[in-house]
Amino acid sequence: MKKDKLVSLIIPCYFEEAAVPLFYQETAKVMDSLPQYDFELIFVDDGSRDNTLAEIKKLSAVDKRVKYLSFSRNFGKESAMYAGLEYAKGDYVATMDVDLQDPPELLPEMLCLLETGEYDCVATKRISRKGEPPIRSLFARAFYKIINKISQTEIVDGARDYRLMTRQMVNSVLQVKEYSRFSKGIFSWVGYRTKWLEFQNTERIAGETKWSFWKLFLYSIDCIIAFSTVPLSLASVLGVVFCLFSFLAIVVIIIRELIWQGSAYGWPSLVCIIFLLSGIQLFCMGIQGQYISKTYMETKNRPKYLIKEQSEDNDE
Ligand code: UDP
Ligand code: MG
Repeated sequence: MKKDKLVSLIIPCYFEEAAVPLFYQETAKVMDSLPQYDFELIFVDDGSRDNTLAEIKKLSAVDKRVKYLSFSRNFGKESAMYAGLEYAKGDYVATMDVDLQDPPELLPEMLCLLETGEYDCVATKRISRKGEPPIRSLFARAFYKIINKISQTEIVDGARDYRLMTRQMVNSVLQVKEYSRFSKGIFSWVGYRTKWLEFQNTERIAGETKWSFWKLFLYSIDCIIAFSTVPLSLASVLGVVFCLFSFLAIVVIIIRELIWQGSAYGWPSLVCIIFLLSGIQLFCMGIQGQYISKTYMETKNRPKYLIKEQSEDNDE
């Protein structure tokens, strides 16, 4: 029987052979408890080289709600989510991780909230960063503080990529076609009314996280560059500050020379000043370089992902 509304769940997977069947088990329970909806589970295999795709195919063979896309190589979670959003046909679309850190049990509540018509999106955030290494929490907090100061777009601390959106919002997200994607920012940038649900952080069910500290650091730089141009003004601000400072220093040196004579000393301090200034100049050039490299990548207009294999479209 054809039901009223189709709900698409997009699940990016990278080296997740152990988590896929467990995720399916849990999610199937939730889907069965919501008989009023049709579901499609879109697993996006992001170029895993283990048995992830084989596991997904096994599920797809027994449950026609299970669909998949498999990339030609690893393109990253952002690309996997974008591919899923393009492929999804649902009236409501959710993105979620396969490791059950995004609890599927929240789906009924999320659907209920969207059905009221008051919201276009139900997003989730973690209440605590429990279980996370302290140094990572420290950097994460600092990152959110900085980005929210220098960007017009609100990036919510603790927000997960787990959210349920209406078709209208999904279409808007798909219109944002940039290559370096930072979805948390894009979801916020497109606007619409968002309801935030909070939940307790849980450990991943199987496998390991793919995000090293370094990968997260680079990802946060991507976000800053994508959502703020404030760092570009750093050179101008520092330039003005140092000019003012050098005028002051000149005045001091002239007065000192007039009163005491022989003030041309201080070779070590000169060397320090040269090092300081060239360091600041190189740092500012580096910031400009980051923006230029991102612009270069965008202008190339390369595809965000390449699909090697996908499930047959057996919808009528
Ligand atoms: N993931 C992906 N491509 C990648 C890295 C991760 O599709 O290059 C998927 C991964 O399989 C998982 C989700 O993104 O479903 C979140 O990854 P992970 O659990 O490693 O991140 P964490 O929860 O530690 O932030
Ligand atoms: Mg995880």
